[in-house]
Amino acid sequence: MSEKYRGLSPAEFFHRNKEIAGFSNPSRALYQTVRELVENSLDATETHGILPYIDVEVRLHEDRPEWVTLRVADNGIGIPAHEIPNVFGRVFYGSKYVVRQTRGVFGLGVKMAVLYAQMTTGKPIYVKSSTRDSDVVGEYLLYIDISRNIPHVQKMRIKKKNKNWHGTIVRLTLEGAWLQSKKRIEDYIRRTALISPYATIRYRSPDGELLFERVSKELPEPPQIGKYHPKGVDIEILKDLIRRSNNNDMTLAGFLEKYFEGVGEKIAQEFLTWAGFQPDTKVKELKLADLEKLATAMKNFPKWRRPRPLTLSPLGPELLKKGVKSILKPEFATAVIRPPSSYGGHAFIVEAAIAYGGEIPPQDNVLLLRFANKMPLLYDEGVDVSRKIVDSIDWSIYKIKFPAPVAVVTHVCSTKIPFKGVGKEAIADVPELEHELEIAIRDVARRLRIYLSKLEKMYEVKRKEVT
Ligand code: ADP
Ligand code: MG
Repeated sequence: MSEKYRGLSPAEFFHRNKEIAGFSNPSRALYQTVRELVENSLDATETHGILPYIDVEVRLHEDRPEWVTLRVADNGIGIPAHEIPNVFGRVFYGSKYVVRQTRGVFGLGVKMAVLYAQMTTGKPIYVKSSTRDSDVVGEYLLYIDISRNIPHVQKMRIKKKNKNWHGTIVRLTLEGAWLQSKKRIEDYIRRTALISPYATIRYRSPDGELLFERVSKELPEPPQIGKYHPKGVDIEILKDLIRRSNNNDMTLAGFLEKYFEGVGEKIAQEFLTWAGFQPDTKVKELKLADLEKLATAMKNFPKWRRPRPLTLSPLGPELLKKGVKSILKPEFATAVIRPPSSYGGHAFIVEAAIAYGGEIPPQDNVLLLRFANKMPLLYDEGVDVSRKIVDSIDWSIYKIKFPAPVAVVTHVCSTKIPFKGVGKEAIADVPELEHELEIAIRDVARRLRIYLSKLEKMYEVKRKEVT
């Protein structure tokens, strides 16, 4: 018999390979679904200057306890009604394919949740949403048509809006192992509250209700949409930008200035001379070989400015410390932010905090809380760059004797976090990043040592007074 050939749709691919997006079993899938929905809600609020109010509810089905209904509501920017089907029903569709720090980047997360729900319980996703400037509310029940990777709308309704509500409510029912995942989920919510101390998060589950009220009304400066850095390009990016520029007269110099981060007239001229190009060459006339030469030269030119951090949105030491104090309730806490840096054309900023004593339980090792773009990372700690650094440090230099009540918090912000997989759980040890993380961790550790030395001295004085 001869082979039969056909293509595979992206939805079909992820249906077959759920593990790579973190949906490997009912326990992990429930955790991952909570995460995808909460992260979308936070992106839809704080990225747009809205103080987040997020309501998360987990309910077990009365007759079938393995069926879990999850509902997440937010006060975000909402989704235009006509975009709702694609946004929830088409793998690789979204609004975050730009140079800007957000939690989501792939346009995949919520579709994985929809896929998982429909394949385990057969139920569609319910979505209700309204944008800030719209006078209607859209409501949908939809599936993904897996073989075609398009939304299949089961029901829809567009209503006039009578209140001034904006935001999104999402509800889906999936097979989830609640008992096995509840600890992780609670941990995830708690850590999300730590890294977003300006958010109010209400979490209801079969175990009861938790309310994390915001401890600050101050939002970090929202990230701006930026341009590519010249070091981060390849031939396809160049082709795409040239096609989109839609301008037959654009010169190479003009192209570089318009589409790239930190490229002014002077540096564009200097680069083009260095790379052996005529600045007034029309970009439309560049051949593939020219594009290859241009991309290589852009990567190797030593004088580009560093990418600016306007696309990033770190917390800053004050807010980070507030978050750490409110959730870990330590006796001592301190936080630092490192200056912006970059790797391969992507800007990044590292923040770190250390907390000691109080309600932190003494442990044989440093309790590590990792975050990336304000997302808690809970799995795969063993292969994460932060763990590697923490384990390589001799903590006795900092007056820590284990078992000790000490927690280290690391936060990496970047327009491209070097995750080890699409499930976004561990960060790779890119040298530039590792370097910054180590400086930040050692910096807060030094401050802890100063604090512990003071305590020691105080005790010594007291002991002398007593004897
Ligand atoms: P990603 O978050 O990586 O972009 P998702 O599949 O999770 O991918 O979401 C797709 C898109 O749906 C997002 O880019 C966003 O535009 C929109 N979206 C999802 N959830 C919300 C929400 N709660 N509020 C507003 N927009 C949302
Ligand atoms: Mg998402």
